[in-house]
Amino acid sequence: MPDIIHVDMDCFFAAVEVKDNPDLAGKPVIVGALPGTRGVVAACSYEAREYGVHSAMPVSRAFKKCPHGIYLRPHGNRYVEESEKIRAIFQHYTPLVEPLSLDEAFLDVSGSHRLFGTSVEIGHAIKDRIKTETGLVASVGVAPTKFVAKIASDLEKPDGFVVVNKDEVLDFLRPLDARKIWGVGKATWKKLERLGLKTIGDIADFPAEELERMFGKHGVHLHNLAHGIDARSVEPESERKQVGNEHTFGEDTGDMVEVERTLLALCDKVAGRLYKKGCKGRTVTLKLRDETFRTVTRAHTLDSPVMTAEDIYHIALDLLRNEDLRGLKVRLIGVSVSGFDENCQTSLFDAGSERKEKVEELLDNIRGRFGKGAITRASLIYKRKGKTKE
Ligand SMILES: [Mg+2]
Repeated sequence: MPDIIHVDMDCFFAAVEVKDNPDLAGKPVIVGALPGTRGVVAACSYEAREYGVHSAMPVSRAFKKCPHGIYLRPHGNRYVEESEKIRAIFQHYTPLVEPLSLDEAFLDVSGSHRLFGTSVEIGHAIKDRIKTETGLVASVGVAPTKFVAKIASDLEKPDGFVVVNKDEVLDFLRPLDARKIWGVGKATWKKLERLGLKTIGDIADFPAEELERMFGKHGVHLHNLAHGIDARSVEPESERKQVGNEHTFGEDTGDMVEVERTLLALCDKVAGRLYKKGCKGRTVTLKLRDETFRTVTRAHTLDSPVMTAEDIYHIALDLLRNEDLRGLKVRLIGVSVSGFDENCQTSLFDAGSERKEKVEELLDNIRGRFGKGAITRASLIYKRKGKTKE
């Protein structure tokens, strides 16, 4: 049964801006840093995409492609409000909701059929309710695994609805561009390209040992994903426990030796904390923020849990070296371990500090994606809006 649903809002931030100011409908709306700064585009409308603008693109480049675009600073609080409405809809259908960001989440609906019908019916109900209750459009993927559900939701954007049944997974994956594999960064893609591996099917046919030799444990993961194997379960926020540490450099650094040394020190701290709790985890997550405040997280899940600094470092370093930093300096690096054993102590955080951490994380995400002033400098946004209305 395809019991995993991935819901991804279409151009979420730009769509909220249009909702709040209907005059913007049908126009190239670009949310993020303003032209003249070195920040990046956080989101843009489909009209802007037609000019070749996309998220994570430096805004200077976006401006060259689309000088008449409507450039807006983000209204972080509004996105959070709309996101909460959408999450409440998810929660109505299943408690197993794993948000990936403000505008996308995985849902496990395997226990919801008696009350709400098939996964496909639930997917449609959610999509319809989001449209009715928020006026925003979501794309939905329904599949047996997280990996396939995420690809499916993206495939027919905007306003997409793609269902992949279990016996269709391999045929569905084979022709797709290898770049569709979730978590494959530019560096890995380049290596795959050099090997002539262009589609997911090419990767599936490639000897697993070779992949492992070239990409380490990441290679095994690639092989499994290409064969439709993805054991990752939907982890609701309330149950998602992790032990992590991060470091913000005093000055952004391009010195990778320093970055790797810092990473090792962080792995050491994390291992120490895991040891105290008597926990081992299967997932190692690397967090990187570059000088433009773009933040990426890359995770790798292992077959057997790890807890030593050496093991964690080995995987985190693999993830780091796989990441194409585009010549940008590193501002922050972090590493965390999650996916703990059953016998691990459950209360890693007391409820209060967890909530605080969540709010901090959310604010940090918004600041991270749009630059330091994103939340505080409302005056800038209004000025800009005034200008664009003229
Ligand atoms: Mg989205």
